[in-house]
Amino acid sequence: MADPTDAILDAAPGESRRATCSCGQLVAIARGEPVRVSMCHCLACQRRTGSTFGAQARFPSDQVTVEGRATQWSRIGDSGGKSTRHFCPTCGSTVYYQLDGAPGFTAIPVGAFADPAFPAPRFSVYEEFRHAWTGMPADVEHMD
Ligand SMILES: [Zn+2]
Ligand SMILES: [Zn+2]
Repeated sequence: MADPTDAILDAAPGESRRATCSCGQLVAIARGEPVRVSMCHCLACQRRTGSTFGAQARFPSDQVTVEGRATQWSRIGDSGGKSTRHFCPTCGSTVYYQLDGAPGFTAIPVGAFADPAFPAPRFSVYEEFRHAWTGMPADVEHMD
């Protein structure tokens, strides 16, 4: 007799990771490994995060489950693409966002996982805006 938990595991291989806002009411659960982890030094990511760069992990949207209430806000980027951020209306943390240029994927800020063992970024973008003191992984791929 099949155990119903087997079906769930078959449908969702790999580990699940849980991203939350600061107050904890907005949660994004991502199954499996991210398809891309990057760091972005652009000024929009600096403003979005309040930090000097953004680090984000991209997952197929069908591997991301959201719980809780989110407010959304969209911004047109320098390259003309739209990003839609979803953040907690109570504490303001962005827990996930989507880019029109990457349909079918959901990006989650790495910090929202609060997991120092999360896979390191493989790509670094918008380095022209990088704060000079920011360190990066030795094997990171530098883009534009
Ligand atoms: Zn919150
Ligand atoms: Zn950016």
